[in-house]
Amino acid sequence: MRKIFIAGNWKMHKTVGEAVELARELVTALTEEKKKIMIAPPFTALNTVKEVLAESNSNILLGAQNMGPEEEGAHTGEISVKMLKDVGVSVVILGHSERRHIYNEPDDLINRKVKLALSKGLEVILCVGETLSERESGIAENVVENQLIRGIEGIAEKQLSGLTIAYEPVWAIGTGKTATPEDADKMHGFIRGLIEKKYSKKLSENITIQYGGSVKPGNVKDLMAKDNIDGALVGGASLKAETFIPIVRYDKL
Ligand code: PEP
Repeated sequence: MRKIFIAGNWKMHKTVGEAVELARELVTALTEEKKKIMIAPPFTALNTVKEVLAESNSNILLGAQNMGPEEEGAHTGEISVKMLKDVGVSVVILGHSERRHIYNEPDDLINRKVKLALSKGLEVILCVGETLSERESGIAENVVENQLIRGIEGIAEKQLSGLTIAYEPVWAIGTGKTATPEDADKMHGFIRGLIEKKYSKKLSENITIQYGGSVKPGNVKDLMAKDNIDGALVGGASLKAETFIPIVRYDKL
């Protein structure tokens, strides 16, 4: 049985004070929740949010939104895997479409980060997804296949227990447009097939595949009803307790 995994990506939002306030609201509301939950505040708030989670023994995981590809050294502006682990991060989001498209991160760089994070014991959410023009020209599956296969190049099956894949069509991120549950399920099934071909049926059946792209309380239930959708990576709607809590508790809606 795959565990349902709901993650919130706060992107470049929230001062430390605002992050603490939101984390407190989530901790209080989600204490009884058995699903796997992660929140990824900005780097500046990680330490303080970790304290909030620890104070209340919360099982909400602390996530980071990115990580440098090197272990240490002269890399101005980068954050290392060791620094993330030091402040209690257990999951890192890599290959987010904003990193790929705004900051031009290529697949080989993302692959170096994925390898480093997994080898040091961090879980990884690897994001893949096509742009609107790629979908309209019928190459969505090729794009997703390339991003996925290049992203996990050279990684042994046994290391992939720490990997979650997030299918996030770029045209659905922050736009209010969501892939239909059927389209998302189809792409998730395609991704599962790629994992089976490259690794094994067992891994393809066990790997968690999140959907991301304008997930909100009004559409989460239909998305989560699909066989191949095991969770959600949520951007905008994770910034407020009143929208993130019902997404996490979609089965009670
Ligand atoms: C995201 O940033 O990963 C995302 C899916 O954003 P949003 O939910 O705002 O579309």
